[in-house]
Amino acid sequence: MKRLIDNLYKGEGAELSALTALLSGFDDEIRSYAAKKAVDARSETYGNKVYLRGLIEIGNVCKNDCFYCGIRKSNKNVSRYSLSADEILSACEKGYKLGFSTFVLQGGEVDNDEEMVKTVGRIKALYPACAVTLSLGEKSRDTYKRYKDAGADRYLLRHETCNKEHYGKIHPDSLSYDNRIRCLYDLKDLGFQVGCGFMVGSPYQTDEHLASELLFIKEFKPHMVGIGPFLPHKDTPFNSFGAGSVEKTLMMLSLIRIMNKNVLLPATTALATALGDGRIEGIRAGANVVMPNLSPSSVRDKYTLYDNKVHSGAESAEGLEMLRKCVKEAGCTIDMGRGDSLVKGE
Ligand code: SAH
Repeated sequence: MKRLIDNLYKGEGAELSALTALLSGFDDEIRSYAAKKAVDARSETYGNKVYLRGLIEIGNVCKNDCFYCGIRKSNKNVSRYSLSADEILSACEKGYKLGFSTFVLQGGEVDNDEEMVKTVGRIKALYPACAVTLSLGEKSRDTYKRYKDAGADRYLLRHETCNKEHYGKIHPDSLSYDNRIRCLYDLKDLGFQVGCGFMVGSPYQTDEHLASELLFIKEFKPHMVGIGPFLPHKDTPFNSFGAGSVEKTLMMLSLIRIMNKNVLLPATTALATALGDGRIEGIRAGANVVMPNLSPSSVRDKYTLYDNKVHSGAESAEGLEMLRKCVKEAGCTIDMGRGDSLVKGE
């Protein structure tokens, strides 16, 4: 297994079967070995810098009904909210004063693109040196273009699984794998820095699926990859499934880093929710991005994608100081710059 990891580090290709065997058979020693190689890979590219993104959860209204997600439209127990443009702007202002240079606007999928295009324009006019990342789901190519023209720099759209059959098992029929992938290619083509990703341990996922995720990422060459463990939410059809494995998530982070040295890789909130020091462990496994929550505190409890979601706070100067200590413990330092991806567009 160590030889396979060495070969991946050297940039050699790997068979699906070998990757599957690695994901099914690794132990703590192999995982530490992969983490060490991942840290080496990160040192060659981003050094020991960890970039911060201010995450603003702009609304939990959603027209989709993804089986895993707590804010799916059929969940009647969610108290729905959507931030006004002014509220989004004031979250950006708070973040800007704390030193953030990237704002990530994430939310459920709604048809409010005209309004959002304007909001993006307002943010870019006020903070032209900052990057704006959107994570608002599937849109037409034309809508993505309008977001780009308004100044949006990056777009996060997890593909959720690269296996079409698996996609169908975790989504309603109204959503299609083909459209999700179309979105990713359109976003790239339009010049966004694009993030894809998936949950580790989502219902019906196999190790072979995870192995094919590694090959999919290698081929798609995203600028960023967001992964975290699946965590059940009590009011979803998947409430009786167990959570995804933290160890496997960390192993996947390391393998993604080893195989894609230039990629931006967040230690996600889901990882921090599953494991107290998840962010530190994520960084030790090769991650180099943390996305602290800048949403107004009044709505934080409402963006419940899964149960017991933590809001790791860098919302205050003290919160940032704590994060700085965590990152230092993982051998890295926080960089408040834009932290653009080193992955070259194609
Ligand atoms: N509507 C946007 C944002 C979705 S929420 C979009 O479609 O892209 C961001 C991510 O949270 C999702 O892509 C999904 O991978 C993750 N997520 C949703 N439910 C989850 C759960 N129960 N456990 C872990 N992650 C979850």
